[in-house]
Amino acid sequence: MHVELHPNFKHTPIGERAAQLTSACVHCGFCLATCPTYLDNRDERDSPRGRIYLIKQLLETDQASTATQLHLDRCLTCRSCETTCPSGMQYGKLLDIGRDLVEQRVPRRFGEKTTRRLLRYVLSSPRLFKGALHIGQFLRPLMPAALRAKVPARQQVKKAPAATRQRKMLLLEGCVQQAATPATNNAARRVLDKLGISLIAMPRAGCCGALNYHLAAHADGLDDIRRNIDAWWESIEAGAEAIVSSASGCGVMLADYGHLLQHDSAYAAKAARVSLLAMDIGQVLCSENLGALAVNTDIGAVAVQTPCSLQHGLQQPSLITDILTRAGFSLTKTQDEHLCCGSAGTYSILQADTSERLREKKIKALSSGKPAVIASGNVGCQLHLQAAADIPVVHWIELLDS
Ligand code: SF4
Ligand code: SF4
Repeated sequence: MHVELHPNFKHTPIGERAAQLTSACVHCGFCLATCPTYLDNRDERDSPRGRIYLIKQLLETDQASTATQLHLDRCLTCRSCETTCPSGMQYGKLLDIGRDLVEQRVPRRFGEKTTRRLLRYVLSSPRLFKGALHIGQFLRPLMPAALRAKVPARQQVKKAPAATRQRKMLLLEGCVQQAATPATNNAARRVLDKLGISLIAMPRAGCCGALNYHLAAHADGLDDIRRNIDAWWESIEAGAEAIVSSASGCGVMLADYGHLLQHDSAYAAKAARVSLLAMDIGQVLCSENLGALAVNTDIGAVAVQTPCSLQHGLQQPSLITDILTRAGFSLTKTQDEHLCCGSAGTYSILQADTSERLREKKIKALSSGKPAVIASGNVGCQLHLQAAADIPVVHWIELLDS
């Protein structure tokens, strides 16, 4: 797609970069068949090609409307289109630019703006979110069933081992995950300890930055990234082997730190180093001897939900299934594995109707082999699916901690 940049964008880094990204699209439309929002409503403007075209219009006219904003908001950022595209379109990077430009040109209504601010503020602060969640969990028994399903039950957490192993890796604890599913990082610590690796969390590290960045608050997202780099840098220089995330949504953001701070002279080299060291917990385990874990696999069949961030973002579509198969679990087959479950960070709150329809389809697909449990690799997907599933939904690392 050729873009004739509006004079306001000509010779600007953002304009030139957006035009270069857009030019990769050759209009073929292959991506439509794997885009969950297009499959949901068959509106071209809710397809990757349609959204690319909307961004192209913005770049050529320096104008955007509430319709442009709506169709970009409706994108899940699942990046399924990138996996499908034969032309190597980096759609996610273009969308980030497009959303930022639209945000600067199209004011949001007061209620919408406040909701987005509140979500960014509360969800990205483990302390605030933990407080709010604990109040919700205390009141949970009194809530009507529909509301109760949205508040995750308090998890039992086993004793974590002391960090005494010679091999050391840093752990990104995440923001929502720390409070809502503490069993995940606890299991990661226990499993890696059995393999001779200690996971160490730095108290000053926090949200990976994805929450702010994907809600078009780029400056705040980049500040989150710089804070994390500062928190980890001493340990990195001391020889930490990797920076591990057990939420693939955070992992895909870590992998992008180098790109996002490439023009920041104080942080570019450090950010690139962090991205090189970043690993999903599955990427750590795939080269370890799982026989040492003595896992109890007698739990019935497992349906695997590989999050979009893992399959399309980190390009690891079979990571979870490979590990669970190697560990000896019996896995069920699932249809349409490439399609998003509708969680997508704050999408399940901001685009609730579409999100629920996608979840319904995903649960149907995951349940088709009559599993006893669903195993996910990302806290957002886990909580979103658990709110509607009638079988347990766990992080897959918990299955190895038994
Ligand atoms: S598959 Fe790629 S090249 Fe084809 S329309 Fe979609 S984004 Fe453009
Ligand atoms: S990121 Fe996902 S929802 Fe957005 S256009 Fe691509 S396939 Fe569709």
